[in-house]
Amino acid sequence: MGKRIINFNPGPCALPLPILEKAAAEFTDYAGTGMSIMEISHRSKQFQAVVDESVALLKELLGVPDNYKIMFLGGGASTQFYFVPMNYLNGGTADYVNTGAWSKKAIKEAKLFGTVNVAATSEESTFKFIPKQADLKLTADAKYFHYTSNNTIYGTEYHYVPQVKAPLICDMSSDIMSFAFDVSKFALIYAGAQKNLGPAGVTVVIARDDFIEAGSDKIPTMVQYRTHAKENSLYNTPPCVNIYMLKLFMEWVKKEGGLKAMEARTKAKADLLYGAIDEMGSLYKGHAEKDSRSNMNVTFNLTGGEEQEKKFIEEATKAGFGGSKGHRSVGGVRISMYNATSPDDIKKFVAFMKEFYSKNK
Ligand code: PMP
Repeated sequence: MGKRIINFNPGPCALPLPILEKAAAEFTDYAGTGMSIMEISHRSKQFQAVVDESVALLKELLGVPDNYKIMFLGGGASTQFYFVPMNYLNGGTADYVNTGAWSKKAIKEAKLFGTVNVAATSEESTFKFIPKQADLKLTADAKYFHYTSNNTIYGTEYHYVPQVKAPLICDMSSDIMSFAFDVSKFALIYAGAQKNLGPAGVTVVIARDDFIEAGSDKIPTMVQYRTHAKENSLYNTPPCVNIYMLKLFMEWVKKEGGLKAMEARTKAKADLLYGAIDEMGSLYKGHAEKDSRSNMNVTFNLTGGEEQEKKFIEEATKAGFGGSKGHRSVGGVRISMYNATSPDDIKKFVAFMKEFYSKNK
């Protein structure tokens, strides 16, 4: 096996090594079929089992109630930006919170199908914070309320679930499976798999039965959630390999102790990294306000400016840490630490930060 780095890419991102090894071991002969998982029929009993087991694992790990369906859809989380309004907006008004690039893209798509009320925004302060519940300006008869629980680019995260009367919809692409939450508060949750669930190419949708049925039936069949819910994600050929990898990832999460264990790891990593930033504040400046800090994507700048940031990233790469460059829209450094990143990986990175600090403060 080649050398593996400590990978801080924001998504696609690091996956647990044991699942990559398992996939490699059974890649040419899946479950005694004499075929790769890429070659078997999505209608075969072996693949049906992959879908069923993936659903069962997600239900168990996230505590999804029985009146919800779990769907595996193609097209990435961005596809959900228009699925949602096509199904539910229908010329009405929906409330959206604008907390960054992904929220903005969701808002743009929704405007094609009705009116968007921006219930709150943090745009004027380069998305440094998450608006508080008290600051949400809600529409009385909103068709739904949409928010992005974690802002992958700016490194901010909700640490509360908004309380609203309208059906609650959340883009949980970059923090699902890292914290415990009550699924029953939501009408619909969607998440691109490529951070905490698996490789890119499949999006998980978790939606309440009555909400699925409330969607429009005047839109193309493929865009109706009811189609995929009814057919157990097998209305058409789904992203088979990606669902299989998701299953392996969820088996790993379960073996590691489930959602509670992921939550504890998440907290441990965040404490280590934000602790280091705060301790060496004369060199490292966090982008997010403290109460809005993301536990998944830690964004910071160096007080010496762009040249120093470039040097930091170059030295980090040399030391075996990949993917630490900030998104082009914010610059600086971004450390993405999803579930496959261990507290030990972060300890090593903090040691690197300390060394850099001692030489450059
Ligand atoms: N929402 C969030 C929060 C994201 O981080 C991303 C991608 N990083 C997306 C949506 C878009 O996902 P995709 O590229 O799968 O369309």
